[in-house]
Amino acid sequence: MIHQSLSEGGHKWEKQNLVTISGRKGNYDIYKCSQCGIEGRSYHLGTIDIPEKFAHKANSCPKLVKKGKIRVIRCTAVGAQFKNLTPNSIHNVIDAPAGESSTRGIWVMGVNEPVMLLYGEFNFIDE
Ligand SMILES: [Zn+2]
Repeated sequence: MIHQSLSEGGHKWEKQNLVTISGRKGNYDIYKCSQCGIEGRSYHLGTIDIPEKFAHKANSCPKLVKKGKIRVIRCTAVGAQFKNLTPNSIHNVIDAPAGESSTRGIWVMGVNEPVMLLYGEFNFIDE
């Protein structure tokens, strides 16, 4: 089970039940991401428990199209232009440079040039 904030991962959570459900572990609401379809249970306001089978999608919504800020988990790319992408550093998401796609990750400003961080190398954050 993955426990995270409803604002993490860039999912677009939509509540599935009208009335809060009573379960063995307490009362909960079911939320489903309208973008990628993963589901979780919210036992506490603002947080969600996501089953392990969705682990590969939990940290970043694969259908996410969003600007904002990210926090680096790790950056596997090598090069002087990636030197500022240290673990836990925070960066603004920028538009993909002309001619480049953003299907495999998001673009941030590296040292003197835009660079791409791959999905899995960062988390979206709210600030
Ligand atoms: Zn999603």
